[in-house]
Amino acid sequence: MTATSPLMPTYPPPAVTFVKGKGARLWDDEGNEYLDFLSGLAVTGLGHSHPAVAQALAIQAQTLVHTSNLFGTLPGPEVAGTLDRLLGGGGQVFFTNSGAEANECAIKLARKWGGRGKHVVVSALGSFHGRTLATLHATGQPQKWEAFQPLPEGFRHVAWNDLDALEGALDPSVAAVLVEPVQGEGGVNPATSEYFQGIRRLCDERGILFMVDEVQTGLGRTGEWFGHQHFGVVPDVVTTAKALGNGVPIGACWAKAEVAWAFQPGDHATTYGGQPLAAAAARAVLAVMEAEDVPTRAAKAGATLTAALAADPHVAEVRGLGLLVAAQLVDGLDAGLVAKAALEQGLVVNAVTPTALRLAPNLLVTDEEIAEACEKLAAAYAAVEASA
Ligand code: PLP
Repeated sequence: MTATSPLMPTYPPPAVTFVKGKGARLWDDEGNEYLDFLSGLAVTGLGHSHPAVAQALAIQAQTLVHTSNLFGTLPGPEVAGTLDRLLGGGGQVFFTNSGAEANECAIKLARKWGGRGKHVVVSALGSFHGRTLATLHATGQPQKWEAFQPLPEGFRHVAWNDLDALEGALDPSVAAVLVEPVQGEGGVNPATSEYFQGIRRLCDERGILFMVDEVQTGLGRTGEWFGHQHFGVVPDVVTTAKALGNGVPIGACWAKAEVAWAFQPGDHATTYGGQPLAAAAARAVLAVMEAEDVPTRAAKAGATLTAALAADPHVAEVRGLGLLVAAQLVDGLDAGLVAKAALEQGLVVNAVTPTALRLAPNLLVTDEEIAEACEKLAAAYAAVEASA
């Protein structure tokens, strides 16, 4: 078999190749301009090439890029302190290079905290927690893991937003419950307040860790700094990644200090996690996010986007929180075809399910950009209908 690309075929062949980005705009290698309402899958929360992040990277690249975690470096602890403050305080952070690794850290921490025999992690059907072997098994989508059996044991899945189902799965072998505030990859399905509050109560009663995966929902996207803050609960462990570096790979696993204490020197490590270059980017990202009050902006822009999407007769329902939104299309309209037609109109969105589009513009998005995106979507619906 002859390879047609130097890349492994894990993704479908790309429709376009992007070479430049600025704010909400992207340009392809033929000079065409696009409005980006996906933000690299909820990553570039401050838009592309944000000047403060670019400057922080340039300065850090000329100062110190890497020394290993055997030594102290400066930006990392500062970022950890800011994350801890935004999460309410009293916790400690382990830095990673991705969301999956942040969840791996959480899973290992739960096992170390629980001890032998109390190691099971219960997660929800429809969830997504990553592609490493353990986070793949935590992911409640069996079709994604079937080909990779045998997977690490110690994972159990229950129906989403169903507290009785969760309660039924809790036995003395369970160390932790791991859930997303909004299932992003699973179709943009928000949790209910009752669900999150019920999980907190059950975990307190049974001595189980409540771990929240905020890899996609964290850092302002939902209209709060972290999605679980909508529900008035404080988890024991929170993971985050995507928006933290605005595209520079960095993730974090935060845990209450009394839980983080289960890790001692030698228990967990990573060569790059929290290294100065990535941490300098995260420090600049958090400074801009706080200065711009991105949660408030995301809540307001999210309401505008939701109303604008719902006004189109091709949309049956809009769901989500803040600027993490899905437009459920009316029967018969294929989301994959609409996303393709939108790209041809110069709008980047994705089909999060075969019948729903996901929109996750940057958190500084303007009303004009939202109006423009909805016009391009209207043209995309029309193009799909015309070709049917
Ligand atoms: N957890 C959630 C909720 C995610 O949405 C994702 C990625 O989409 C991950 C974990 C995995 O993150 P990464 O792709 O950075 O490993």
